[in-house]
Amino acid sequence: MSFDTLGLNPAITRALTDAGYTEPTDVQAAAIPPALEGRDLMVASSTGSGKTASFILPALQRILAARGDNAKRREKGVVYGPRVLVLAPTRELAMQVDKAAMTYGRHVQGLRSTTVVGGVPYGAQLKALRGPLDILIATPGRLLDHLTSGKAILENVEMLVLDEADRMLDMGFIDDIRTVVDHLPEGRQTVMYSATFVGHVGRLAQDLLREPQRIEI
Ligand code: AMP
Repeated sequence: MSFDTLGLNPAITRALTDAGYTEPTDVQAAAIPPALEGRDLMVASSTGSGKTASFILPALQRILAARGDNAKRREKGVVYGPRVLVLAPTRELAMQVDKAAMTYGRHVQGLRSTTVVGGVPYGAQLKALRGPLDILIATPGRLLDHLTSGKAILENVEMLVLDEADRMLDMGFIDDIRTVVDHLPEGRQTVMYSATFVGHVGRLAQDLLREPQRIEI
């Protein structure tokens, strides 16, 4: 199978060619088509499977589709918040996702992605949050801080990604995640990645996902 059959925008496939990728991994082949259709996903797959690209590529496609809309907002001087929000358990993982977004999005002109993670000063994060912004990658605790202080704009989020959801719950982020989700638009797409979906992760999936497609790799 080649990336060309998945329905991705040429600006995205060009970046994959640049990266030397010749074909999608199993999780990418399974998750990208339903993600592009806007479906909710429940993906059980581990690190090293290529899962990051499996959600970043559909996210970039969404951002490309919204470019005209963003241009209009800019003309009107409306500051727009991110269309894609990725929640990740650790600063390291958030940074990796951000790096992947910039690599796969290198031909998406004007792409704006930022991370909001704990353990670093608030100043630069506040500036980045004032937007405009396409992708926000955050750890739940720090994002909640910014939300509480009214600094994070989440009303434009169309796609929510929970990466390594089981780890986020193991770290005690359940209440933070639920509060963040309460601030997101109802009609959004939600995709959830976890090593397992048993116990409390399964309950969270049941609460957040609508008729999800289940993918196990
Ligand atoms: P991940 O599971 O997302 O952490 O990705 C693991 C590694 O696989 C990363 O170093 C990616 O650069 C690489 N990778 C992701 N997708 C592909 C692909 N389709 N072909 C070759 N390498 C890939």
